[in-house]
Amino acid sequence: MANTQPKLLTLLTGWLWWILPLIVFGAIAAALWLLKVGGVGLPAVILVTTLFIGFGWIIVSALHPAQADRTCPECGEEALERLDPETTRGVRCSSCGYIDRDESSWFLAEEETVLEEIVLRERARVAGLRPEELSNAESDSSETDVKG
Ligand SMILES: [Zn+2]
Repeated sequence: MANTQPKLLTLLTGWLWWILPLIVFGAIAAALWLLKVGGVGLPAVILVTTLFIGFGWIIVSALHPAQADRTCPECGEEALERLDPETTRGVRCSSCGYIDRDESSWFLAEEETVLEEIVLRERARVAGLRPEELSNAESDSSETDVKG
């Protein structure tokens, strides 16, 4: 697959070389103008507003967490379910029978069950242990990522 990212050198020889200084000096001019127009209190207002937006984003994210997208890519129904309840891989549409064995069903599992059991079972499978042995064999530092 060809790299479709534009090279920096291409951008610099193109339009970017003259618009970057314009953006930088424009931002400096806008900041000086805002300080002149807004007075001494304006930086505090901007700081408080920025902090409010950041904490507001955290609060909204905590109170309204992401939900799994169960829309089937084939038929468009809200009917995707996990292919295998023992893992977090693979989805199946209960409406049209669409199956994708490679797609992550992590978010679906997160809504439906306790992820810790799946993660421990998967780690045990990778390490060749039974799950109860793995919880006793404390931290052999083989951090295997089973997400997805
Ligand atoms: Zn479907």
